[in-house]
Amino acid sequence: SKRGRLDQFIAGTLQIPKKAVRELLINNKVRVDGQFAKSLDLQIDEFTHIECNGVVLRHYQKRYYMLNKPDGVVSATIDDKHPTALGLMTGINTEMLHIAGRLDLHSTGLLLLTNDAKWSEALMAPDHKVDKKYLVTLANPLDQAYVEAFANGMYFEYENITTLPAQLMLLSSHQARVVLREGKYHQIKRMFGRFRNPVVALHRESVGDIVLDHTLLAGEFRALTKAEVDSVF
Ligand code: URA
Repeated sequence: SKRGRLDQFIAGTLQIPKKAVRELLINNKVRVDGQFAKSLDLQIDEFTHIECNGVVLRHYQKRYYMLNKPDGVVSATIDDKHPTALGLMTGINTEMLHIAGRLDLHSTGLLLLTNDAKWSEALMAPDHKVDKKYLVTLANPLDQAYVEAFANGMYFEYENITTLPAQLMLLSSHQARVVLREGKYHQIKRMFGRFRNPVVALHRESVGDIVLDHTLLAGEFRALTKAEVDSVF
């Protein structure tokens, strides 16, 4: 198995005694997932990135996950008021993970996490224009005027931008599916705000070709498949 203690791994890989491994740690010569390792019995696995004297002993693997983000969870690594998305991902090493495309505190659904910065940049780059699909529930009834306003784009004075043409499909009196190709700050809420129609619930269903797995309950996550990962490039 690739799981085990750090000191055993280094002693075995470098063919040195455990005592020498201790010296390396004391002298800050060992980095685990980017941080200096302090304890000999640190648990490592096949995803752990290990460097000794600047030499990579085990390269981390690129990792990709989808999380069904629950309401009330922040899209952040640390927060002192609310539970975090990364905090929900128990049983895996979350140290190097970052969020590719945040959701607001009360938004739910597809949240992507990875340690591959090139991948998340490609996914979220403003010029890449990946479709993001949202199911939106509104406080007040909808009508055809919304469809046209979203398609035409809206001007926001604060940033001096006009939103790209967005698709809005009426699903019922109070529900719509919205497809955005960008992600400005609170964009959906602000677009409905133009109609003085508060967003009651906002659920992200997909990002590009990556669709939230319907078997994931709120708060559950899974690794992306190779096809999902490769769909981004
Ligand atoms: N638009 C919003 O207003 N909030 C989100 O979380 C995503 C898009």
